[in-house]
Amino acid sequence: MEIQDILHDVYEEMKPHIGEGKVADYIPALARVDPQKFGMAVVTVDGQVHVAGDAAEPFSIQSISKAFTLTLALGRVGSGLWSRVGREPSGTAFNSIVQLEHEHGIPRNPFINAGAIVIADVLLAGHKPRETLGEILQFVRYLSGDDTVYMDDDVAKSEQATGFRNAALANYMRSFGNIHNPVEMTLGVYYHQCSIAMSCVQLARAGLFLANGGRDPISAQTVVGRERARRINALMLTCGHYDASGDFAYRVGLPGKSGVGGGILVIAPGKASIAVWSPGLNANGNSAAGTRALELFAKKTGWSVFG
Ligand code: GLN
Repeated sequence: MEIQDILHDVYEEMKPHIGEGKVADYIPALARVDPQKFGMAVVTVDGQVHVAGDAAEPFSIQSISKAFTLTLALGRVGSGLWSRVGREPSGTAFNSIVQLEHEHGIPRNPFINAGAIVIADVLLAGHKPRETLGEILQFVRYLSGDDTVYMDDDVAKSEQATGFRNAALANYMRSFGNIHNPVEMTLGVYYHQCSIAMSCVQLARAGLFLANGGRDPISAQTVVGRERARRINALMLTCGHYDASGDFAYRVGLPGKSGVGGGILVIAPGKASIAVWSPGLNANGNSAAGTRALELFAKKTGWSVFG
């Protein structure tokens, strides 16, 4: 069966489930998003683009940005990064604070909020926040081959005004010496990376290098080496869905990174990069209908990293 036909079938089967879950309301700008939105895009390693539903509409990628900032930070400091952040699944919520005390301010992995705030701090080193934000945005534009990708300042400001828990995480890590820049600056970078708006098509396109051993098959540019691409995928599989990473691996069987905007980026190594968007979240803060759609899609294509 052709991928476009599979996508069409998934979309049809998903229709009764669209609107499932609860839109993130702790960030006021996200609480206003229409829960009936649903989009999906598949970009294959041979450059074909397949779409369903609202695949061309930009949404707030939120924590999906953490996959891109991790890639940048590894490029900047290499394996030295692992002295400041771990590589283990946390088994706790994305914004949990409890582990940090036991583990002396070293977050479990780069995808929980604390870990991503450390990554933002690494990217900020030696730069002004504006420069770091420019670097992140330029990288995501380069990956997506689309200069219209933007940061949504309203979303960033909305989160900044209500991000008490992230401020707690950052201050706590600073007390252990694991945040090097002023906390407000590091958080400013973090909130703005989370505010990047992209469509499913742009997002799937941006993730394509991870499906192709680190080399973007469309631009023919090497973004990272094969080993690094593998390792980023491994982290997405084990940590990309927080305390639901095991469940996502069980149901979908592919590396994925979710965001509270309701997006999920999934990598099918050697095959395609897939993005889905449906704003309603499950109890773990991952897109409810999005996960269900990916489960269906993986089942119908037979794609899985587990054979
Ligand atoms: N910006 C969000 C936050 O810090 C990101 C969380 C997420 O997408 N899981 O809470």
